[in-house]
Amino acid sequence: MRLMALYDLIMPVFPNTVRAEIRSLAILISGNQDRFLSVSVETVASCNRGCVYCPNSNQELRSARHSDLGSLVMLQGLYEKIISDLKSVDYRYKLAFGHFGEPFLDRSIVDKVAFARISLPHSAIVINSNGDYLTPDLLQDLVSAGVDRVIVTDHNSKDPSSPRPTSEEIQILRHHLECHPALGNYVVFNGLQKLSNRGGLVSIPRERRKIRSMCEELNSVNIDAAGNVVLCSNDYLGSYKFGNVKESPLAEIWNSAGYRAMRQAHSERIFTEDICIRCISG
Ligand code: SF4
Repeated sequence: MRLMALYDLIMPVFPNTVRAEIRSLAILISGNQDRFLSVSVETVASCNRGCVYCPNSNQELRSARHSDLGSLVMLQGLYEKIISDLKSVDYRYKLAFGHFGEPFLDRSIVDKVAFARISLPHSAIVINSNGDYLTPDLLQDLVSAGVDRVIVTDHNSKDPSSPRPTSEEIQILRHHLECHPALGNYVVFNGLQKLSNRGGLVSIPRERRKIRSMCEELNSVNIDAAGNVVLCSNDYLGSYKFGNVKESPLAEIWNSAGYRAMRQAHSERIFTEDICIRCISG
């Protein structure tokens, strides 16, 4: 842990946009790997898009998911409980807003970022978005609230079948950030390169498939809008739930026998869950 103590000391010199990665790297180098370094929270489960490479595009799957979740918006008390659980373990790694919903459909996203920032001063707060609702003013509010990075995936550039074939919003934002480079440090634009088949729920042409030989989510926690801790970012239907943060502290869920056994098996590249088998085989 001496490496982490050193990191804590020198952390202020790193730009906030790279803190999460550097911290994760330090943890991995230190050899203490069975801990969560990334927590993804779905404060809203709906999305304004229906991209063909996302299970949200399948009406049947989407209806099944939404009815299983009950409310599409995470209750404020539940969100505060998650942050409180993280605070209680002095969590200092990545807190991401995302999963399968579009975070900017959450009208209180700025307040949620501010709350997380106060409770988790050393965490890297990241928002994953399609960018449709990210205006320069909203970005400025998020930065003031304490966000570290907004990752905007441009779904228009490689998805001609998108219901919104042009991306005027992203162009406006890009232009604004060119004129305000300090604000631009908080935004990363992602194009779509390789795509996951989402545990077999969507069909991806072979040349665009992301081929995995190992699980990339051994240190990640994914919490859906109902508070379920699910298998990973591909588990759209919550097929594998390890607990619910409404009922148990997050650290207790992380250390539960079933969750630990799954991580151990995946670290040895043993995959028995059907969505994992489909994920790994591409
Ligand atoms: S191998 Fe399984 S747990 Fe890992 S990313 Fe794929 S579906 Fe998720």
